[in-house]
Amino acid sequence: MAPKRKEIVIPDIGLPHDTILKQMDEYAASDADWNGGKVFGLVYHASDEHHEFLKEAHAKAMELNALNPMAFPSVRKYEAEIVSMMADLLGGDRKVYGNVTTGGTESILMAVKAYREWAKQKLPNARNPEMIIPESAHAAFRKAAHYFNVTIVHAPVGPDNRVDLDAVKAAITDNTILLVGSAVDFPRGVVDPIPELAAIASERGIGLHVDGCLGAFMLAILKRAGHDVPPFDFTVPGVTSMSCDIHKYGMVSKGASVVLYRTEKLWKSQFYTFEQWSGGIYASPTMTGSRGGGPIAQAWAGLKAMGIDGYTRLHLQLMDIARRMQEGINATPGLMVIGKPTIAVFAFTNDDPAIEMYTLGDLMEQRGWFLDRLQAPPALHVMVVNPASGDLLDAFFKDLRECVAIVRRMSPEETEGKAAIYGMAATVKDEKVLKDAVAGFLADQYKA
Ligand SMILES: *Cc1c(COP(=O)(O)O)cnc(C)c1O
Repeated sequence: MAPKRKEIVIPDIGLPHDTILKQMDEYAASDADWNGGKVFGLVYHASDEHHEFLKEAHAKAMELNALNPMAFPSVRKYEAEIVSMMADLLGGDRKVYGNVTTGGTESILMAVKAYREWAKQKLPNARNPEMIIPESAHAAFRKAAHYFNVTIVHAPVGPDNRVDLDAVKAAITDNTILLVGSAVDFPRGVVDPIPELAAIASERGIGLHVDGCLGAFMLAILKRAGHDVPPFDFTVPGVTSMSCDIHKYGMVSKGASVVLYRTEKLWKSQFYTFEQWSGGIYASPTMTGSRGGGPIAQAWAGLKAMGIDGYTRLHLQLMDIARRMQEGINATPGLMVIGKPTIAVFAFTNDDPAIEMYTLGDLMEQRGWFLDRLQAPPALHVMVVNPASGDLLDAFFKDLRECVAIVRRMSPEETEGKAAIYGMAATVKDEKVLKDAVAGFLADQYKA
């Protein structure tokens, strides 16, 4: 019998505000230290001052609902202006349209849904729509395929971690509606060959979505600063849509991304409308119904406050920190950076089997350093998201060297547990067993 769950219920009598706020501080005590510079991912923090400003902007619009643009023209303006600012940043002309979404995943879901609808008219032979994505593309594309009944076809990546173009060409069928390229990919921070993918897509009359959720913002700023970045944006003919998160290298709080389309027709394929509802004519551009005004307002305010000059200064600083980290990691015997990253995102792995990477990640985490775990090969992930990390590099490398020495002294029996958990997909071959284990883990996280 399942153990009786501890009852957590709405209090019969409301508690005083200060009691509740104190409890929140207690809960937060075990959170990752998101503004100190020791977390390499998840929270993008320009400065404490910028953060306070975003809070203020958020508060001004937090009660507003973007569901009804007629009731709150301010939120509609924020959204339209964000789309315009982002389209310009990403090389789009006046015909590029789009929406603000809650995040990269929603932007990607929307794009896949838009192409599915668009293809019903434009590609009548594509009866069972398929999209070809690089193996390194974000999991959100698989989520979209799962939700919207589009078949995923994987294209492998080459030795440079960029998608293999011959494999993409070979995978195209009459059912193909969409190609995908990342700028940059999450695991290794590289840009897929966008002009080549765009040429293939144009020739077939199908779409090319560039997933710039993680990288496009920083690539655009580096490009404006005169850095040599590979082509990735709307200036490449054949790129038909892009996703770009403002809540990543746009340095605003969570809940803000854009999905942009080269044509109005494609954009409108994203919408959902229901005209006969007794609740009135229903029309919504994105996944969600009610949408908080707060995240949209703070994203708008954040873009204006940083400006191109602010982003340039900050991104160059983050790039410099990333470069110093890559040099230090490559100079650590047994460790190496994977490939040639383009922005301040990279992964490192071992070139000495005595260093079990997941154990190393856990030891670093015990010392407060938060690095995501990657697989195939086992690796740790670094996204430089806070200029404060720059002052901590000596401490980082001291801890890294000490942790490496500890892992080296551990026996394979001691380290294999970590490898078994994080690298489960490499060892558990039965897909159902694997899926059940991961779903069980996820559910456990939320059981009170
Ligand atoms: C983060 C990320 C996404 C998804 O964005 P969320 O905001 O986490 O939903 C998509 N693509 C890439 C490359 C990403 O790094």
